[in-house]
Amino acid sequence: YLNRLRQTEPQIRSFLHVSEEEAAMREAEDIDRKIEQNEELGPLAGVPIAVKDNICTADMPSTGGSRILEGYRPAVDATAVRRLRECGGIVIGKTNLDEFGMGSTTEASGFQVTANPWDVSRVPGGSSGGSAAAVSAGQCVVSLGSDTGGSVRQPASFCGVVGMKPTYGRVSRFGLMAYASSLDVIGCFGSSVMDTAILLGAISGHDRLDSTSSKHEVPNYASELASADLLESKPLSGLKVGIICETLGDGVDAGVISSIRAAASHFEELGSIVTEVSLPSFSLGLPAYYILASSESSSNLSRYDGIRYGNQVAADELNSLYKDSRAKGFGPEVKMRILMGTYALSAGYYDAYYKRAQQVRTLVQKGFKEALGENDILISPAAPSAAYKIGEKTNDPLAMYAGDIMTVNVNLAGLPALVLPCGFVEGGSAGLPVGLQMIGGAFDEAKLLKVGHIFE
Ligand code: GLN
Repeated sequence: YLNRLRQTEPQIRSFLHVSEEEAAMREAEDIDRKIEQNEELGPLAGVPIAVKDNICTADMPSTGGSRILEGYRPAVDATAVRRLRECGGIVIGKTNLDEFGMGSTTEASGFQVTANPWDVSRVPGGSSGGSAAAVSAGQCVVSLGSDTGGSVRQPASFCGVVGMKPTYGRVSRFGLMAYASSLDVIGCFGSSVMDTAILLGAISGHDRLDSTSSKHEVPNYASELASADLLESKPLSGLKVGIICETLGDGVDAGVISSIRAAASHFEELGSIVTEVSLPSFSLGLPAYYILASSESSSNLSRYDGIRYGNQVAADELNSLYKDSRAKGFGPEVKMRILMGTYALSAGYYDAYYKRAQQVRTLVQKGFKEALGENDILISPAAPSAAYKIGEKTNDPLAMYAGDIMTVNVNLAGLPALVLPCGFVEGGSAGLPVGLQMIGGAFDEAKLLKVGHIFE
């Protein structure tokens, strides 16, 4: 994998840091020794894993894609990283992202732009573009990302890999750099649903270091998948699948719509009952998300003050130290989000923006509850288009934000969703992948993964 990484990295640029070869090899040799001595091996023994750079690793830099944290080395591993290491996983490096997770293309990284392995003139999606591209290019087996408004699912769709956004609280956020704390979750990428399920199983579960992590029991996802009878002619017999009609209308590429319709027919062939469902508040989710996410981020990012964290700019008094460190350390997208967030939270505007966005959030949650009362899972595209060209939307932030329409509602409701490749549209030399999003009820990860495994 390190060889493959070295060969492909000049074109793809998914990594901000690659593990020292000696360190990775030492960990691999330790697994060899365990095999020789017949010691018990964890479910990820020897598996090369890439980790998004907003997730803390004690032995490697962790920048969150921001110049303000250039050179920062955390004191401890994030809980998710600690757990995957305990399962034998080898962290081979840290992947590129939009600064602190704010973006949809990985172009807003403070360091470099990552390319889509399907067509290097296109974006890999974001903000976890580096982690998605790394799996897609065969630079690692599985990877960790984070998903605040779609940052695992949309890059999975753009890069043709599997992406899992778990229920809010399923995976500890300890050691994940906070963007919008009520929406953030750590998620997983893999090239198959089984790989993704094994990784999710390794990192899930309650953690006393994150008070929002859930005590809900963690099923053995991998063995649930293994129990699926793939030879049965109608393995999804009776499964009720609701196709969200608001996601197949204006603004969605025709090729994406036909891939999703083909996926719906495939569900029927497998025995499912597919019906259209309506989520009337669907389109309100996007503006509500951007208000809530910016508001929370404006508060969360106040910790980068040049004193507690981050690079310090020399100044002769305290206020200019704060100001200059932040002015120099943050990129333009992050500054825009902080401005939008502080504006939305300011005294005269709170009721008009933040409060209304919270009301929309409640409506979105109710809408999902009803739709999931009548259906086992809901399906939609993961994004309104396939991967677009690098630079195509950088001067039009609203067009870029609009691309998150399919994913943000799921975060507002805290639900789990699985994205897997379901078709291709024209583009590049080999076509471009389209991702299907499957949404389940809270803590329905096992069901989503099993359905995804059968579907795939
Ligand atoms: N594109 C969305 C944003 O910029 C989602 C990002 C994410 O999930 N981290 O906020």
